[in-house]
Amino acid sequence: MSTPTDFEPATVICPCCGGPSLYAPSNRYRPFCSERCKQIDLGAWAAEEFRVPTSPPLEPANPEDDWKH
Ligand SMILES: [Zn+2]
Repeated sequence: MSTPTDFEPATVICPCCGGPSLYAPSNRYRPFCSERCKQIDLGAWAAEEFRVPTSPPLEPANPEDDWKH
């Protein structure tokens, strides 16, 4: 009786560098290709998280202004 594997090793695209990444249990940095890429991505994510928006979202243009053209 064989145990079905729900984790089939495959090569995926590294979200960080776009290179091939082995998506397998042996790759502990998956889906990243390497520890370096994983750290870079986490760093970028943290930077986004801590960035304080300096300007509020732009209000949509007043539709009535378009009528005056
Ligand atoms: Zn990578």
